[in-house]
Amino acid sequence: MDKAMNCNLCARGCNTDREYKAGYCGMKNEIRIGRAALHMWEEPCISGSTGSGTVFFSGCSLRCVFCQNYKISMKNVGKTVSVSELADTFVRLQDEGACNINLVTPTHFVPHITQALDKAKCRGLNIPVVYNTGTYDTVDTIKMLEGYVDIYLPDFKYMSSELSKRYSNAPDYSIVAKKAIGEMYRQVGMPEFVSAGEALREDVENAQSTEEQMLMKKGMIVRHLVLPGCTEDSKEIIKYLYETYGDNIYISIMNQYTPLSTVGNIRELNRKVTQSEYDDVVDYALDIGVTNGFIQEGDTALESFIPEFGE
Ligand code: SF4
Repeated sequence: MDKAMNCNLCARGCNTDREYKAGYCGMKNEIRIGRAALHMWEEPCISGSTGSGTVFFSGCSLRCVFCQNYKISMKNVGKTVSVSELADTFVRLQDEGACNINLVTPTHFVPHITQALDKAKCRGLNIPVVYNTGTYDTVDTIKMLEGYVDIYLPDFKYMSSELSKRYSNAPDYSIVAKKAIGEMYRQVGMPEFVSAGEALREDVENAQSTEEQMLMKKGMIVRHLVLPGCTEDSKEIIKYLYETYGDNIYISIMNQYTPLSTVGNIRELNRKVTQSEYDDVVDYALDIGVTNGFIQEGDTALESFIPEFGE
């Protein structure tokens, strides 16, 4: 972020001078990360057999009441790193065998991240970069990522402004998300895959598999977490995505919602999504013709599914 300018990186547009104080996202102008490690729990074409090199950034401009990563999004757990140290982190994850660098909740650090990626590329980074966002990004901020990001992994959380206001204090969420996803698609277009065997680099000693698993190298997967009692909103989102992008994107329908203490007295969020709610949404997607998608099977709505974040 330009030190002379106040921050308007996300649609919150709080215009904070982050040199001096934190914005709504909870972050000042120093990079803070909660965790950087190989992660096996993304979609198979993102995690592969060796893991996605995830970097969880502290803070968040959405701060959803049900956030599954609230320790870093709201409590700002993490450690401060320089641009150069962030670049080293990316290269270290590649050396450990990561299929890609997966930037989680990165919006409020986009200018720092592009600087770090420039440095990391000079230090040998050559794996795809994934931008994994809650999608309260402005189009201008997404434009800053052109040429840096290979795979967009945006959430589409709500269509209803009533829901987005109640759970994320963002009544304009769906308007913002539609525009941001449109710009992401303009940049990366149709999905492209490469076999895991081709993607393996000779210098990675601990890469374990040469099986013909396909890894995404370019494209977009839009994620939607089904919330309790919100199946009609889920269907609206899937309908919009399929009518707008057809089979040119993937849609990932997630069932891992876990009620945490952060939901407080929002009673309707104090339970998991039932199997019949989840099946209803998946059946709808299949009925309207979605074929490029991911679903979750089994009981993934466990607290243990949520990664631990170090201090
Ligand atoms: S990124 Fe943070 S400081 Fe910047 S506009 Fe959004 S909430 Fe405000």
